[in-house]
Amino acid sequence: MKKGKKLYEGKAKIIFASADKNLVIQHFKDEATAFNNQKKANIEGKGILNNRISEHILSALKDVGIENHLVKRLNMREQLIEFVEIIPIEFIVRNIVTGSLSKRLDIEDGTKLNRPLIEFCYKSDKLGDPLVSREHIETFDWASTQDLDYIIAQCFRINDFLLGMFKGIGIKLVDFKIEFGKRKSDAKVILADEISPDTCRLWDADTDKKLDKDRFRKDLGDLVEAYQEVARRLGILHEQVNNVRPIKFPKPTEVKIKKK
Ligand code: 5GP
Repeated sequence: MKKGKKLYEGKAKIIFASADKNLVIQHFKDEATAFNNQKKANIEGKGILNNRISEHILSALKDVGIENHLVKRLNMREQLIEFVEIIPIEFIVRNIVTGSLSKRLDIEDGTKLNRPLIEFCYKSDKLGDPLVSREHIETFDWASTQDLDYIIAQCFRINDFLLGMFKGIGIKLVDFKIEFGKRKSDAKVILADEISPDTCRLWDADTDKKLDKDRFRKDLGDLVEAYQEVARRLGILHEQVNNVRPIKFPKPTEVKIKKK
């Protein structure tokens, strides 16, 4: 598939046009950012792992009838996806309290929720992705009532499926962020963006070891090794399954913390 012009560049991905007006190419970068861009690093190999892990998860979701933008993976860093107009809301699904929820409401980190909790954040770097209510989403027409009902039902289905999938490989799905978009071809709302250790919190079931982007946010190190572990357990990295040495990526080349 021939790559056209760059349409959009985000913190972790670039979107390129393709020969088909309804399809675009999603390129996964190695850049890691946290705390609304205040912390940045280049972590070699992260993009490759996220491309593979997200492909695996979105394909599995498609197999159980959860429509999403993935068409196919093209190469190590790129996948062909359906062109969507992203709804400017981050849908956050939580099973265990941690991160911003723990801080915001002073609830002990690690508290298990009796039922999954969905939160909405307005996608705005300038504002730091503020928490918004369903009423805000409807009032400002970020999504219609009908689309929102559909998305929320999809969030619960996706959570159910992913909880089981990760449980089967000894991982607790603590929380995750997903995005939805309106397909250009027919305006249908579908799951988009990515699902990877960049967008989920994944803890080892026995030790609670963090296998996600919190390794970068909290300076825990070994981010690529943790993502490789997730990929290996998902059955994507076969070389480690056969006791062959894991691919060794160099350490992050740059860590920059901007002063306010
Ligand atoms: P929290 O609100 O606790 O910081 O994050 C909740 C969950 O959503 C975590 O799994 C986190 O990785 C994900 N998340 C929230 N906002 C973002 C974001 O802007 N980018 C990424 N990659 N993940 C996010």
